[in-house]
Amino acid sequence: MSKITHFEIHDVRFPTSLSGDGTDAMNTECDYSSAYVSLFASGGLVGHGMTFTIGRGNEIVCQTIAELAKRLVGRDPESLFANMGKAWDYMCADPQMRWIGPEKGVVHIAAGAVNNALWDMFARVRGKPLWKLVVDMTPEELVDATAFRYITDAITREEALAMLKAKEAGKKEREATVKELGYPAYVTSAGWLGYTDEKVARLTKEAVAAGFNHFKMKVGADAGNDLRRGKIIRSIIDDPQYLPAGQPPRDPNSPALKGKNAGPTGAVLMIDANQVWDVPQAIEYVKSLEEIKPWFIEEPTAPDDILGHAAIRRALKGTGIGVATGEHAHNRMVFKQLLQAEAIDVCQIDSCRLAGVSEVLSVLLMAAKFGVPVCPHAGGVGLCEYVIHLSLIDYIAVSGTMERNVLEFVDHLHEHFLYPCSINENGRYKVPSNPLEGYSIEMYKESIAEFEWPNGSYWVKAKGGN
Ligand SMILES: [Mg+2]
Repeated sequence: MSKITHFEIHDVRFPTSLSGDGTDAMNTECDYSSAYVSLFASGGLVGHGMTFTIGRGNEIVCQTIAELAKRLVGRDPESLFANMGKAWDYMCADPQMRWIGPEKGVVHIAAGAVNNALWDMFARVRGKPLWKLVVDMTPEELVDATAFRYITDAITREEALAMLKAKEAGKKEREATVKELGYPAYVTSAGWLGYTDEKVARLTKEAVAAGFNHFKMKVGADAGNDLRRGKIIRSIIDDPQYLPAGQPPRDPNSPALKGKNAGPTGAVLMIDANQVWDVPQAIEYVKSLEEIKPWFIEEPTAPDDILGHAAIRRALKGTGIGVATGEHAHNRMVFKQLLQAEAIDVCQIDSCRLAGVSEVLSVLLMAAKFGVPVCPHAGGVGLCEYVIHLSLIDYIAVSGTMERNVLEFVDHLHEHFLYPCSINENGRYKVPSNPLEGYSIEMYKESIAEFEWPNGSYWVKAKGGN
């Protein structure tokens, strides 16, 4: 019998505030950070996981990860793998730590890091990338691996089983399709708020040339500026001259683009306010941007305000602009209510704000039942590496479709990972295929040594270690 013997935690911070990467109306000085954990078990087993923060406070998450990881020390990994739903319940149910959640905030994102590390170990032990481990599960095994507590009023275990069984026959074919085509992606890194107009225009042209046709822009600091920047982006993405050589414009009325306010070349623009508005203000502000024809407004208001999102969605109906949210939805119950209240057009799960793969599975199942596409959030370090696995699970095993989905892609910091995500010539994510990569989140030891806070070589040099 193997045993989890110990764990290691690293507080890793990248100085992205120096370049303006990641800036939006709410988050103006981000140092993309990783609260990173490695679980070790006897027999040489290892699993890596992380959660994402934007700088200060990362040490608090690291401390909390230690409290939760302690609960796994001494446990047999195989007994945990046999029922990952139960393992998840056990991990989240520390009777004392629970008080400072429950299932939200620091405690919950720390649980995300630990649960993801356990899933990474599981995938490595089986010699499969994480997505493949999960899509190869039987419907029963997948349901057993899911966090089901508190959501059975929206979806029962039996309903989930029936849905998964209905999708079983097509799994092989979908796996082959996505390996050939890649998974649809969109670009955020052209539209950070801290960038100049020239940088936005240059990056947008580069993104069009790289084959992308969905683009996201940050909004919310100044309506006039947003309209101007939105028009710059639209003038580029709607102009066929910037399309890659030989690529004809896409049909804006095709099923993949219908209802997305696609322009003449089939390009789609999305806008993201990162929670800056009150509800009436959100409605008024977004209406003032109608001219740039966004598909949706992302995070228009407080992430906990389910009925507020529903009100905004109702008020914007006439404009054809939808509502998306989820990167700050702290658990599956918030997603459950967003779906039940018909508050969202697009469900944006986060791979490590939700407490790891087991809780993500519960949201994928609910979103599929309610017919809402899942377009994961990935603006941060490590998130792109994670989310391609989740979207593959969604497409192959759960919803069975990727036609209208797009997975966020930001082109930052991938070089720190042993198995970085990558994009093909049509602007789509490639399918991770290395049997050793697990959940693709293992960071180079050299990167950790350089950027560990506060004593990594970069920080010592930059700030004198203080
Ligand atoms: Mg966002």
